Amino acid sequence: MAMTASTRNAITASASDGTVGPLSANEYIALDEQWSTHNYHPLPVVIADAAGAWVTDVHGRRYLDLLAGYSALNFGHRHPDLVAAAVEQLGRVTLTSRAFHHDQLGLFCRELAELTETELVLPMNSGAEAVESAIKVARKWAYQVKGVPDGRAEIIVAGSNFHGRTTTIVSFSTDPTARADFGPFTPGFVVVDYGSAQAVGEAITDRTAAVLVEPIQGEAGVVVPPAGYLAELRALCDANQVLLIADEIQSGLARTGELLASAADGVRADLYTLGKALGGGIVPVSAVVGSREVLGVLRPGEHGSTFGGNPLACAVGRAVIRLLATGEFQQRSRELGDHLHRRLAELIGHGVTSVRGRGLWAGVEIAPEGPTGREATAALLDRGVLCKETQDTTLRIAPPLVITEAELDSGIDAIGEVLAG
Ligand SMILES: *Cc1c(COP(=O)(O)O)cnc(C)c1O
Repeated sequence: MAMTASTRNAITASASDGTVGPLSANEYIALDEQWSTHNYHPLPVVIADAAGAWVTDVHGRRYLDLLAGYSALNFGHRHPDLVAAAVEQLGRVTLTSRAFHHDQLGLFCRELAELTETELVLPMNSGAEAVESAIKVARKWAYQVKGVPDGRAEIIVAGSNFHGRTTTIVSFSTDPTARADFGPFTPGFVVVDYGSAQAVGEAITDRTAAVLVEPIQGEAGVVVPPAGYLAELRALCDANQVLLIADEIQSGLARTGELLASAADGVRADLYTLGKALGGGIVPVSAVVGSREVLGVLRPGEHGSTFGGNPLACAVGRAVIRLLATGEFQQRSRELGDHLHRRLAELIGHGVTSVRGRGLWAGVEIAPEGPTGREATAALLDRGVLCKETQDTTLRIAPPLVITEAELDSGIDAIGEVLAG
């Protein structure tokens, strides 16, 4: 459809010099509606600035953030140490491409490897890219090290997984909305029920390269697997020369009270995918970390990314690693998480049927007679609280780990009011 003068002028606030003056929230929303693809359905709030656990909308109203960018904002909005690291690096060099060395990459990789007790780091940008990279590495390892016949490698994944949005990753999604009309799909994946080590055991063959799982499934509704699940997967992988890949993009980096959620089961994976909080909510930073034996299969030219491991990303990532190395955020997540789960448990029977999660991370199952997830999040927005439903009937609570107990209590009070109806 050709653009007419009237569609172009549907938003009238553009000044003659092309700058756009302050608009109302509804006008900003209308702009999004008209000009951005409709692949999201955001709540009707237009955020203009943010600090710590709080955001402010374009009309100056403050909201408590209980989503934290799906855990990309574990350290809160604009953590001063992270902003300082970004500003400092912006004044030096932001991008070199990997055609040249720069003075942040090696330090970032060493510090991330030391933090995660791994040996090599493959830096990328988005979480989906980290997962794609782990898949490529696992396949190459299967052919070169395990001796799987060329083109026959399989990766076992779990039902209700969420690993990102690329064509290969949605190929093994079990969410019809994530897949419909995006085929043909990438072969080489076997889906089994999440939480069943027995199902993984039955699916393993000579051609299995890896088992790829989330230690806790975030998008599925903060689903915690049975105790011992990851340890059983580890044992199966060891017995069958199969790699265990833990996607810790949402569960990792202090969200559950541990640096890595898999540690709660005492498990070490062969590869971890990291993302979200690794960029401190400032820049997209992701990585695959793991052993030299596995990540060492990649040779020059076989994989890469123009922006992966750029100086700005590495400088921010290094500041994130410094925050995580203190253990303070892991401890806050444990302590505030205990408080959160104690208080949410009191809502069971009052509009809530169950609560799942670990640390400062919860999936609150709304009673069938209560509001839909969307209605609940809209009602919370009216009360100045931001969170997001997942799976229609689950509220996902993932506050920034800098939130205070009093702030958390005010958010939980609002949730109680909205769900108890
Ligand atoms: C968010 C997420 C991803 C994808 O990350 P993007 O940065 O959105 O590509 C992958 N895996 C898990 C577990 C996630 O939560």
